[in-house]
Amino acid sequence: MEDGILRLLQVPNVDPTYRYLNLYLFPCLPPIMKTAEEYVESIRKMRSNVYQFGKLIEDVTTHGTTKYTIKGVARIYEMALMPEYQELLTTTSNLTRKKINRYLSVMETRDDAIANIKIKRLMFQQTGTCTGGRCVGWSGINALWATTYEIDKKHGTDYHTRFRKWLEFAQNEDLAIAGAITDAKGNRALSPGQQEDKDAYLHVVEKRGNGVVVRGAKVMISGAVAANELIVMPTTGLREDEKEYAVAFAIPRDAENLVLIENRRTGETRKLEDGFDKGCEKGGVSESWIFFNDVFVPEDRIFFLETTEFAGPCVMRFAACERSTMGGCVAGQGDIKIGSAVAMSHINGLGSKPFNEKLTRMGVMNETLFGCGAAACALGKKHESGAFFPDDLLSSVTKIHVATLPYEQSVICQEIAGGIGEVGCVPSYQDFMHPELGKLVKKYCKGKASAESRLRVARLIEYATMGLGVPGCMHGGGSPDAAKLVIRRNLDFDGFYLELAKRLADVSEDIRVREEKKK
Ligand SMILES: Cc1cc2nc3c(=O)[nH]c(=O)nc-3n(C[C@H](O)[C@H](O)[C@H](O)COP(=O)(O)OP(=O)(O)OC[C@H]3O[C@@H](n4cnc5c(N)ncnc54)[C@H](O)[C@@H]3O)c2cc1C
Repeated sequence: MEDGILRLLQVPNVDPTYRYLNLYLFPCLPPIMKTAEEYVESIRKMRSNVYQFGKLIEDVTTHGTTKYTIKGVARIYEMALMPEYQELLTTTSNLTRKKINRYLSVMETRDDAIANIKIKRLMFQQTGTCTGGRCVGWSGINALWATTYEIDKKHGTDYHTRFRKWLEFAQNEDLAIAGAITDAKGNRALSPGQQEDKDAYLHVVEKRGNGVVVRGAKVMISGAVAANELIVMPTTGLREDEKEYAVAFAIPRDAENLVLIENRRTGETRKLEDGFDKGCEKGGVSESWIFFNDVFVPEDRIFFLETTEFAGPCVMRFAACERSTMGGCVAGQGDIKIGSAVAMSHINGLGSKPFNEKLTRMGVMNETLFGCGAAACALGKKHESGAFFPDDLLSSVTKIHVATLPYEQSVICQEIAGGIGEVGCVPSYQDFMHPELGKLVKKYCKGKASAESRLRVARLIEYATMGLGVPGCMHGGGSPDAAKLVIRRNLDFDGFYLELAKRLADVSEDIRVREEKKK
């Protein structure tokens, strides 16, 4: 009987307390968390505005090059309803007190931040790659929560109220939110207001009574095809005379005049083929270029406008969330590299023992990535708005590791695998399946285990180290140099460090070199 009612009400199969609250205490409330099927359907129903190879993709949920990205994000929805993952993947909304997916939550404690990094590692292990269609949006939610709060406090505006209202809607609909921050940027030596082409940075081109019209582009946006909505914010700090660039908002991914081009990556067309040459079919990393060709943003979805002094702090908060928790995604990627290197060592008949030192080195790098990110989360601070932000310095240090260690891990993984783990050294699935050629491939590609297992793992190594599964380690979350600026700002070489050494060595004279001003 109860199951029947639940089905009728479309209440997902979640824990008994939640059922009780929703069904008996607040029976009029709609279910909060979507099933994987409901999520995929919500994406399928959207207007087609994604292009690739010069053609419109009619249905991103079934098209070969986009469906894996959606499958990966769908796995988050699926797992959030599984009892064993609920504690990690769900939390209580600070707005409605209802159970929600953590990807839509405001992090309020260090435990919330640590859950974030743990989720990112778990999801990478589950899908074999990045699930950016929800992760970058999560950082944007937290950045905007605190920033809108501060703006209202200073200017008496109602941006925070608007943001809360939109977030409540997003939570109730259990939306997948991608984060669109990076602008096209044009000439990197010039700031937004100095660009020859004003559209190089997204900006307001028209103000109407009920909203604004924006033009520009947001580029390399992870998982945009798998998102219901986009959070859009400036990519950099702004000068006072750059008001038209100071705009943050949320917009449906299929809004009118919004066009997406899904990027091309190495081996892309393999996704259209049958067989194991894809490397992994559990998920799919994806980045899109998003063109805002005069897109109207209604007033209730604008979270700040013209407040230039808040653009920089908003970006910094976003960066703290993103850079710290990337330690989790990239450790998840490392887990796959370690696992596939071990698998190949067994398939080749050697087992892992001869490679213990190399594998341990990979493990140390992995736990450095995760540990540094987790420390950034643990040592963060609560903002007066109630949101909790990872530590700036440690987040940026994590980012530096993210931009280096995965590349070193890839080298070791390929070294352990042998030539079969490198590019261009494995026959195709079609040859493996060919009635005549296949016999040769099967006879000579086998190791201690079968040729099929060996080829499958070789493809996984290719996928994880340089193929379809590689996420944005170098520039995702900002360039390493941008992270180094934050690190440098936090390290007081000529103050704290100089005085520390002087005190311990009992140096009392003034030894500091003072830079002479250039004449
Ligand atoms: C796989 C991947 C996924 C991504 N996902 C997202 C996403 O989901 N959402 C999103 O918003 N963005 C995303 N990005 C974009 C990412 O945030 C940017 O790539 C990053 O911020 C760097 O910007 P850029 O690519 O324009 O590099 P550039 O700004 O062109 O930088 C190139 C180099 O020049 C240096 N440089 C730039 N300007 C200066 C200057 N004035 N002086 C000195 N040096 C300078 C930089 O440090 C860098 O080394 C993603 C990127 C990648 C690669």
